[in-house]
Amino acid sequence: MPERKEYRDKSWWLGASPYEESPPLSGDLEVDVAVVGGGFTGLNSAYYLKQHDPKLKVAVLESEVIGYGASGRNGGFAMTRLGWNMAYLVWALGVERATPAHRFMLECVRHTRELTEREKMDCDLEYNGLMVLARTPGQMKSLERDLHAYEKLGIKDCEILEGGHFRERLNSAWHIGAFFEPDTAILNPAKLAREYKRVNAAKGVEFYERTPVTRFQPGRPCLLQTPSGRVRAEKVVLAVNAFGTRLGVFKNWYVPMFTYIIMSEPIPERAYQELGWTRREGIEDKRQLVHYLRLTADNRLVFGGRDAPYFYGNATEGRESHAAIFQGLEADLRGMFPMLKDLKITHRWGGPVACTLLFFPSFGYWQGQENVAYAMGYCGHGVALSSSAGKIITDLLYGRAKKYEDLFFVLHRPVYIPPEPLRYALANGIRLSLRAFDTITERNAPR
Ligand SMILES: Cc1cc2nc3c(=O)[nH]c(=O)nc-3n(C[C@H](O)[C@H](O)[C@H](O)COP(=O)(O)OP(=O)(O)OC[C@H]3O[C@@H](n4cnc5c(N)ncnc54)[C@H](O)[C@@H]3O)c2cc1C
Repeated sequence: MPERKEYRDKSWWLGASPYEESPPLSGDLEVDVAVVGGGFTGLNSAYYLKQHDPKLKVAVLESEVIGYGASGRNGGFAMTRLGWNMAYLVWALGVERATPAHRFMLECVRHTRELTEREKMDCDLEYNGLMVLARTPGQMKSLERDLHAYEKLGIKDCEILEGGHFRERLNSAWHIGAFFEPDTAILNPAKLAREYKRVNAAKGVEFYERTPVTRFQPGRPCLLQTPSGRVRAEKVVLAVNAFGTRLGVFKNWYVPMFTYIIMSEPIPERAYQELGWTRREGIEDKRQLVHYLRLTADNRLVFGGRDAPYFYGNATEGRESHAAIFQGLEADLRGMFPMLKDLKITHRWGGPVACTLLFFPSFGYWQGQENVAYAMGYCGHGVALSSSAGKIITDLLYGRAKKYEDLFFVLHRPVYIPPEPLRYALANGIRLSLRAFDTITERNAPR
């Protein structure tokens, strides 16, 4: 039997409330659709498969527990971001292709709220918008380029905040202004994953946890081997994202880059007042290797990003802790918010995100088999996108691929990434260039 991995320490979200695991698969199973992976993509797929036809026999096979991967560890930002930033999206695709893509992401964010409200999913969702902070005049210019790119796509409700307008939204010692976008939600990701399980189970979806698929053979039917039983499935959803190489899928399409988070105790009332973050937006900054920060329902500060290393050989396990990045994050937090100098950091964690070379996701048929659909490569922006990933996957599996002709990332494979050692050099080379860019551009910034 494979080693049983502890999940409670993979993030504060996963350990904060009790969770009852479903038993592993024991014996053979025949289903209409087998979903491999119990993160947001797999859970949303199961949801839409049942919407398509409530009589379908759908089973989710998860190697650890629901939300074990990125879905139970992320920052919980449901945002419209696709690719590096809006200026990049328009530059890379042109206005004509960027417009439907951004509109789709906007729908994904709104849909995250609608879906959780409709299904009464308790996940602490707050729809407070996103602020992207600038620390230097150069970063302010870059925010203006983003605003201009949004306007080119017909999006008119974003704005630049400067001077007093910015100060009244956040008391940061480092930043001079921000870009504000109203359509972003923050939520508790582990709660969302577990609520998906509850809603799906009520619709008859079967869940097998601690059930890794160790071998996958496409065909009609597809055969999936697990340590304690074999599954025959008419159709399969591959929802393993950054963990794909374990199963031998998506190998040259992505690299798992690690991103790290520190979390504080609840901010004491006086410091919270001084922080002045009254609208509780999700926040990122305008660095290349961004910081991301937000408040939880009980006012803990979640503070992540800053760096994103790649570990040789596509490692996805055993790298959840990184002392230097945790220290750097803590120093940045105290620098930005001197009023939080005594705030205790209580939790630290990390996880892999699937990054493609051009920083765009990919949906399609695995090896051209129209009964095997996949979604992958969200590049750290999968919370909103996954709320509709299952809809796309269901449409692909049931003959409705044409609906997505306008979406450049559907039925479109990512650019090839070479094997090791070139892969290591490429991934960390890009990362170090971005780090150098941030260091140089922020050398005269307030600190
Ligand atoms: C620290 C961190 C912060 C992030 N912050 C944000 C954010 O604020 N906003 C945002 O939009 N995105 C964020 N992301 C990215 C986001 O979490 C992901 O894009 C999203 O959760 C991907 O969902 P998924 O279901 O595709 O993959 P995952 O959640 O990774 O799910 C894949 C699942 O497949 C299982 N699995 C793998 N192999 C097998 C197998 N062989 N058999 C059975 N099961 C298998 C894994 O155990 C895992 O549970 C962050 C990610 C991390 C790590």
